[in-house]
Amino acid sequence: MDNILYLVIPCYNEEEVLPETSKRLKEKITSLIENGKIDKASRIVFVNDGSRDKTWEIIRSLHEQDSVFSGINLSRNRGHQNALLAGLMTVKDHADMVISMDADLQDDIDAVDAMVDKYLEGMDIVYGVRSSRAKDTFFKKATAEGFYKLMNTMGANTVFNHADYRLMSKRALEGLAEFGEVNLFLRGVVPMIGYPWDVVYYERGERFAGESKYPLGKMLAFAVEGITSLSTKPIRMITGLGFFIFLVSIAMLIYSFIRHFMGATIVGWTTLMVSVWAIGGLILLSLGVVGEYIGKIYLETKARPRFIVEQFLNTEE
Ligand code: UDP
Ligand code: MG
Repeated sequence: MDNILYLVIPCYNEEEVLPETSKRLKEKITSLIENGKIDKASRIVFVNDGSRDKTWEIIRSLHEQDSVFSGINLSRNRGHQNALLAGLMTVKDHADMVISMDADLQDDIDAVDAMVDKYLEGMDIVYGVRSSRAKDTFFKKATAEGFYKLMNTMGANTVFNHADYRLMSKRALEGLAEFGEVNLFLRGVVPMIGYPWDVVYYERGERFAGESKYPLGKMLAFAVEGITSLSTKPIRMITGLGFFIFLVSIAMLIYSFIRHFMGATIVGWTTLMVSVWAIGGLILLSLGVVGEYIGKIYLETKARPRFIVEQFLNTEE
């Protein structure tokens, strides 16, 4: 059988949750193996993202006690996204499907069964989507949902209410490996890979121990990172603004002339008024045009794959 599943879990200072998390994940993996859905060679991989507490010692002892646990130790703290990517890229040659999730099990692990089922039906990417955030605080819910809306209006298309809880097949991971960009925003890049995909809904629970490693500051930085690493829409918005202001300057020109000929202005007002708007508009417009070129350079330097071939039907002579 060749349905080897690897669970990838980034961990940063998670000594409080690891004992419980490892126990629950092992139960999950064991039951999936018993039901014949996944191969015996499936693994739970903890990625230690430069923790300052006992996280790595715990991972190491788990691995020594039980071969179902594996560990990856990063040289230093690189943040959630990079830790996740490190895990995915390290295990992709060993697994047929990989599921990523957080160490605190806020994302219901029972959704794993549904994800594996979808994989067995032929899906390459299965997104875990939060159906409700009843257990999140009002503040977390409002900021998090605002985050997805902001991201989408700024041109970073992500799956709404999907964090990094997802299943990816081997070939989807190989597709991901083609993206050579350094600032990789996984939630935005994974949908760009393509291949058949589906979603699984689940309820998001509370963190059962320890505290969030994503305070508001980090979340805002994450949003800025996501927008600037995915799209050049902000530049386009400057161009649009410049064009709009230039149109206003024409309206101002007409208005000023009318006022001028009505004799209702003091000397110099007309020229000042028109030039302020016209020059402002022209500056913004030119800035936008320059920005368009910088945006092109930016996208080129990312060297994203231009296509990923899903299938090549070809009869050789
Ligand atoms: N995490 C990480 N590196 C970091 C910060 C967080 O690997 O620098 C991990 C953390 O251990 C957890 C996941 O990212 O497994 C999500 O973090 P958290 O649960 O604190 O975020 P929240 O659910 O509050 O958004
Ligand atoms: Mg969490």
